[in-house]
Amino acid sequence: MMKKIIQQLKNSKRVLLASHVNPDGDAIGALLATGMALEKMGCQVTRYNESVIPAVYRFLPSVDSIQRRLTDIDAFDTAVILDCGDLHRVGTSADAIATIPAIINIDHHTTNTRFGQYHLVDVEACATSEIIYRLLQTMGLSIDPAIATAIYTGILTDTGSFRFSNTNRAAFSICEAMVAAGVEPSAVAQHVYGTYSLGRIKLLNLALDSIEISNNGHLSIMTVTREMLADTGTQPEDADGLINYARRIEDVKVAALIHELENADGAPGDQKRFHVSLRSDGSVDVARIASDFGGGGHAGAAGFSVETSLAELKRAIYNLSDRFCAPCHLN
Ligand code: AMP
Ligand code: MN
Ligand code: MN
Repeated sequence: MMKKIIQQLKNSKRVLLASHVNPDGDAIGALLATGMALEKMGCQVTRYNESVIPAVYRFLPSVDSIQRRLTDIDAFDTAVILDCGDLHRVGTSADAIATIPAIINIDHHTTNTRFGQYHLVDVEACATSEIIYRLLQTMGLSIDPAIATAIYTGILTDTGSFRFSNTNRAAFSICEAMVAAGVEPSAVAQHVYGTYSLGRIKLLNLALDSIEISNNGHLSIMTVTREMLADTGTQPEDADGLINYARRIEDVKVAALIHELENADGAPGDQKRFHVSLRSDGSVDVARIASDFGGGGHAGAAGFSVETSLAELKRAIYNLSDRFCAPCHLN
């Protein structure tokens, strides 16, 4: 499949690259690394992401070339969709993108739907950036410091700095090669983890204070409301990573971060839109839980979005906790 994909890319005149809404370091790193590499090959490339790029990733080379609007969709002969379990993860342009004649799906989510004509889906890969590294190797493209920084950042962030269960040998071997190609690990770490706005620290305080635990102690819920963002002058991206505090609590098997989104237009009463992030300690497959709610992800990290009331959503999440009783590991 990799050969066919390389052939398709070589034959393409205009390529659209897109990754998922509310992008993380892997969605952005894979997008930028692929963009820089295809341009080296002489392709005309458009990089697209619907969301604002979080401040911590704005140091990445070529990040300013990412567009939030799509025009002239008919001009593309190929789309490369990165780090998306299904095409709808690219956001509101999914239906328009679906009309592009050749769709290449490069991803590592267990819930990947195998959309598109070409798939490079490896659920064993620690990050989509790992798959992109292998693709560039197969193409024989040289990896300059800018591409290396994008790949390194994708792997560093998706593995939680080599701590999550997706951390594999490739994570280390590729990052070692990226350092040899010119990446400065301390500089990347300083950008990604080392600099918090005061508002973000205050948001952390409110989020920690919001943590609730189920009766059996195996489920934690953290809540980040619009009001908390307004009170601290922060953006939705400032909640990235906070769920790890809820996950770390002793005995907790599953942590949920309820993130209130902008108001749903015309939604009745207390109906609101929420994104729920789920993390597990490894004993529970949260991708399955997220799928039940219309989302997806990995066994240890998954998410879904819903329109409901906060009380109703908490009830639904608490109901899950009965499934994580002490000795009976959830299927
Ligand atoms: P998050 O909840 O944004 O922290 O994401 C955790 C993991 O689940 C990431 O790998 C996401 O790509 C994936 N994910 C989050 N939300 C969804 C969704 N609505 N559908 C499919 N996958 C999702
Ligand atoms: Mn991602
Ligand atoms: Mn990823």
